[in-house]
Amino acid sequence: MDIEAPGEAKELPKIHRLDESVVNRIAAGEVIQRPVSAVKELVENSLDASSTSISVVVKDGGLKLIQVSDDGHGIRHEDLPILCERHTTSKLSKYEDLQSIKSMGFRGEALASMTYVGHVTVTTITKGQLHGYRVSYRDGLMEHEPKACAAVKGTQIMVENLFYNMIARRKTLQNSADDYTKIVDLLSRFAIHHIDVSFSCRKHGAARADVHSVATSSRLDAIRSVYGLSVARNLIKIEASDNDPSSSVFEMDGFISNSNYVVKKTTMVLFINDRLVECTALKRALEIVYSATLPKASKPFIYMSIILPPEHVDVNVHPTKREVSLLNQEVIIEKIQSVVESMLRNSNESRTFQEQTVESSPSVPSITNNESHLNPSPSGSKSQKVPVHKMVRTDSSDPAGRLHAYLYKKPQNHLEMNSSLTAVRSSVRQRRNLRETADLTSIQELINDIDSKCHSGLLDIVRQCTYVGMADDVFALLQHNTHLYLANVVNLSKELMYQQVLRRFAHFNAIQLSESAPLQELLMLALKEEELDLECNENDDLKMKIAEMNTQLLKQKAEMLEEYFCIFIDSDGNLSRLPILLDQYTPDMDRVPEFLLCLGNDVDWEDEKNCFQSLAAALGNFYAMHPPLLPHPSGEGLEFYRKRKHGKNPQDVGKSSCDIGDDIEIEDEFEHKLLSEAETAWGQREWSIQHVLFPSMRLFLKPPTSMAVNGTFVRVASLEKLYRIFERC
Ligand code: ADP
Ligand code: MG
Repeated sequence: MDIEAPGEAKELPKIHRLDESVVNRIAAGEVIQRPVSAVKELVENSLDASSTSISVVVKDGGLKLIQVSDDGHGIRHEDLPILCERHTTSKLSKYEDLQSIKSMGFRGEALASMTYVGHVTVTTITKGQLHGYRVSYRDGLMEHEPKACAAVKGTQIMVENLFYNMIARRKTLQNSADDYTKIVDLLSRFAIHHIDVSFSCRKHGAARADVHSVATSSRLDAIRSVYGLSVARNLIKIEASDNDPSSSVFEMDGFISNSNYVVKKTTMVLFINDRLVECTALKRALEIVYSATLPKASKPFIYMSIILPPEHVDVNVHPTKREVSLLNQEVIIEKIQSVVESMLRNSNESRTFQEQTVESSPSVPSITNNESHLNPSPSGSKSQKVPVHKMVRTDSSDPAGRLHAYLYKKPQNHLEMNSSLTAVRSSVRQRRNLRETADLTSIQELINDIDSKCHSGLLDIVRQCTYVGMADDVFALLQHNTHLYLANVVNLSKELMYQQVLRRFAHFNAIQLSESAPLQELLMLALKEEELDLECNENDDLKMKIAEMNTQLLKQKAEMLEEYFCIFIDSDGNLSRLPILLDQYTPDMDRVPEFLLCLGNDVDWEDEKNCFQSLAAALGNFYAMHPPLLPHPSGEGLEFYRKRKHGKNPQDVGKSSCDIGDDIEIEDEFEHKLLSEAETAWGQREWSIQHVLFPSMRLFLKPPTSMAVNGTFVRVASLEKLYRIFERC
């Protein structure tokens, strides 16, 4: 008995098995995303075959032809039939081998994939053979028996008509002419890491190679020959390592650009266990150090090679193996970050000397920091092992709140600090053409004041602490060793901004206001607000006068404000630019009026040192991470956003019982626009506290002694004690 209407059965989608060639083509499209990914796979195969010379020829951005020739060990005649089948590899046999994999390939997918989306021809000869073999492949299979042919040592793989059967992909790639650039970039990266291999890359038919490196024993020579003298002469050698299983085990060495190197785009060449990979977290971490440490916020050139125990690296997380995941990634990144920071500071120091001496002999690579290896560096200081009972972890699914269970002490070297100040001063002086040298003594004195008032215990907390989260509107919860602290983020950010103003003095990048703001109106606004606060009553005429006077005063000081503090006031009395004190952070623009009034009222314009100090303090107060003016949209603060009229409206009285449901809904109605504004403001502030304030404090803040007693830091609990309590439970 059939109760199903025949029409209905037809409408249900039927599941059927995809044709194998379709499956393979889809999979291949994932492994070989664009011509450059094919080149990467082919070059990696050549490297795995112990080649010492690899040359690449490309036609039409790789769509017409990619040809990679090497002088490696070649492919055995008997392996040729299965060479291009999926999952055929000579590099892995059991899953466990993945743990110790040293070669770049292991999935046996690359060559197979190429045959599903292009025409592949392999010519190869192995040691001891009189002749080589040539064979073409399609869809994983040989098109014919291998033909004997003359061949030079190694293997040549030719991929023609890539994506001939993927029309959409071919079209998009045809329009973007930049794949050849990507291939050149890729080869350049390989060339500066595998310095014992010579690489070349050229367009088909071109006489000149666009990458040409010869095997060398010096990394710096390789970088010079590939990236040019302008990069190579501005590099600093870096090294770091750790060998403590409770925190991290790694060795890193590399070259990073110094303060003389000024470009707009970061170049980060990263090899982990000799594998060319990307690590966005590390790249971001280093960019932050650069933008914050160097007077002229430049993007870096970084070459870095990190070696880890193979079992600490998961190479199998990405279809093109472009990304890898590391054990203890955060710890490693932090350690590298601090080494880079200290090297950069030292490089800043030698900058002036370097410019004077090197100018006469520009060919000398300017690695000026050999002496800095004598300084104790964080990399040299071994982590102290943390007893297991002191290890503390929060939820690991929330990395932001993860509590690190490691400690290591940064050496305090006062000499180092002093000389770095001298360097800052001299580089500032240099930029200012020695014209106003005298001006800067006062800045120097103010910075010295900061250093001499620095509290070493608090400095240690600031540098080593872990941010747990915000405890309320003003206090953040921190963990340092086995103690928990509450720290006042308003005070901390105010001080940090103040110190940044002095440190970046005359070298700020600018925040451009979308509309320039008339000083006089802003000052009026501020005066009115002040009146509300103080409950005094001046008449509007008087306020106008004060606003006008202050506007005149600020206009008179405009040149100085612009030159030293990047506060731009035009001749009509409009404010259009403010300084960037910390990357990725703009102050709360609602506080501009108050700030301007403060410039007018609180700044001492007579004495130079007082003037700079009070101006820095005014900026510090303006940029501090105050709670937003709108109340926090949760808990009691939420009341503020509830629509006023609810429930109590006279017309509600006497509604029938079936309206009760509506009443409840109305009760929950909020001023949504205001509410979402508040949510954004608070959310942004919390983001900035976590991602800007704390990382920057760790790098730059010298906490003054006063913070130890004025309630900025409050110790709330010792975890050891808490554990004892828990143990008793
Ligand atoms: P995988 O590299 O993951 O093993 P591939 O598909 O890239 O997979 O390559 C398959 C196999 O072909 C390799 O394991 C290797 O044995 C061999 N092979 C590929 N290219 C070369 C080459 N240039 N020289 C020698 N052998 C090669
Ligand atoms: Mg491979």
